Amino acid sequence: MEKKIITQLRKIVGESAVLTSKEDLNAYSYDGTTTWAHTPDVVVLPTTAQQVSQIMKLADENRVPVTPRGAGTNVSGGSIPIKGGIVLCTTRMDKILDINKTNLTATVEPGVILQDFNLELAKQGLFYPPDPQSFLGCTIGGNVAENAGGPYCVKYGVTKQYVLGLEVVLANGYIMKLGGVTVKNRTGYELAMLFTGSEGTLGVITKITLRLLPKPPADKTVMAVFDDMAIGGQAVSSIMASGVVPAKIEFVDNFVIRRIEEMTPMGLPVEAKALLLIQSDGSPASVEAESKQIVDILKKNGAKEVKVAKDAAEAAMYWKMRSAGFAAVFGAAHTVLAEDVAVPRDKLADFINKLEEISARTGFFISYLGHAGDGNLHPSIFTDIRNKEEFDRAQETMAEIFRTAMALGGVLSGEHGIGLEKQRFLKDAMDPVALNLMRKIKGILDPNNTLNPGKIWEEERV
Ligand SMILES: Cc1cc2nc3c(=O)[nH]c(=O)nc-3n(C[C@H](O)[C@H](O)[C@H](O)COP(=O)(O)OP(=O)(O)OC[C@H]3O[C@@H](n4cnc5c(N)ncnc54)[C@H](O)[C@@H]3O)c2cc1C
Repeated sequence: MEKKIITQLRKIVGESAVLTSKEDLNAYSYDGTTTWAHTPDVVVLPTTAQQVSQIMKLADENRVPVTPRGAGTNVSGGSIPIKGGIVLCTTRMDKILDINKTNLTATVEPGVILQDFNLELAKQGLFYPPDPQSFLGCTIGGNVAENAGGPYCVKYGVTKQYVLGLEVVLANGYIMKLGGVTVKNRTGYELAMLFTGSEGTLGVITKITLRLLPKPPADKTVMAVFDDMAIGGQAVSSIMASGVVPAKIEFVDNFVIRRIEEMTPMGLPVEAKALLLIQSDGSPASVEAESKQIVDILKKNGAKEVKVAKDAAEAAMYWKMRSAGFAAVFGAAHTVLAEDVAVPRDKLADFINKLEEISARTGFFISYLGHAGDGNLHPSIFTDIRNKEEFDRAQETMAEIFRTAMALGGVLSGEHGIGLEKQRFLKDAMDPVALNLMRKIKGILDPNNTLNPGKIWEEERV
């Protein structure tokens, strides 16, 4: 990159907000995936939308790629600067600008860490449900850009169900305002939704207004042990068919149970083939009734053991185990391929059976973890990218897992996005006319392909 660009960036954001040392650039070269890395030429840490606008204008005019980045926890390669250029990191835009208890809304800057936001809301008895299990580190800007989900989404929906308004800086530097602070808004096309889940390819999100809920007064967690994974999957379908919609239904397999027990012993049933963790929330009376109904359904549907957490501490221990699950999987091998498919919730048991067949045939062990209540599983394969022959076979096995999910009416990505990881499958996963329309939208909003180039669209990858 030309030196004059870096000089200009220093003028825009100040000396201390421009990083160019080898160590700093390395720190921004990777994300939560284990297969991708690429160093940027420079990292900038703006603090205002005006600065973001000037950075975008400078980059666009000089054809310098810009990769927006929050905390870099995504698991699809989205925040890797695959074509070099500028990483525009929002972590210094970290103010909660407003929490309005009467309107049940909050307005935040994109770099606010989800957990910090949740702690502030809790002080006022408020609740923002989308809960990606990276909540200790991920940013709300990254959540909106990925349309993130999490355990609570069974009952409460994903990030897009809470986005009311956005401020977005376009590739040419224009600061655009979309939506507002009302829960209803039927003014023209839903453009705020277009940017929600756009993976940093259409604009840089600089302000977000979110819908909130009052914190449910009570909750209860039930843990069910299964000695067959598919029976566990069938139990999820039975709960959903019963008329009860729990707040969360999560699935953890034996591999994850053992990994967690090794790292943090908490007395988990290490012989269990699978665990379901289910949480009900609402008024104390409804939680009591719902939990009883869930326990009955689980017992009738093959659970070997069903335990109701006796208090908040026991429930918190189970949920801590679940939130550590993904890290346990990612730390288990040099290279971990983690799928993110979602299947219809009545097809979960079929999907698990088919995955077991694939595992037996290909010889790859498959670990399962995920948001079972949404039909969103993360089947993971352990391999080593340095062993080309094995890595190629692992990738082909992943492709088969994806095709299997699609054949059951599922989708390529439930929550992690396309990024770099899933580009090669996109054309098989979408209507070609819809795909072409998406490309045209990208072309209109970012004609010079400045924003996050190389992502989503396969042929643009270097
Ligand atoms: C242990 C672990 C558990 C996880 N659990 C879940 C889960 O339960 N559910 C789930 O959905 N995901 C999960 N994830 C994935 C990840 O945490 C989410 O995708 C999260 O939303 C990413 O936020 P981030 O701040 O880290 O964004 P980053 O990883 O930095 O960026 C993600 C994408 O958003 C773009 N982006 C970031 N900020 C902006 C912005 N301000 N404007 C425009 N584009 C932007 C980037 O270019 C990139 O494409 C998990 C990841 C890990 C490591």
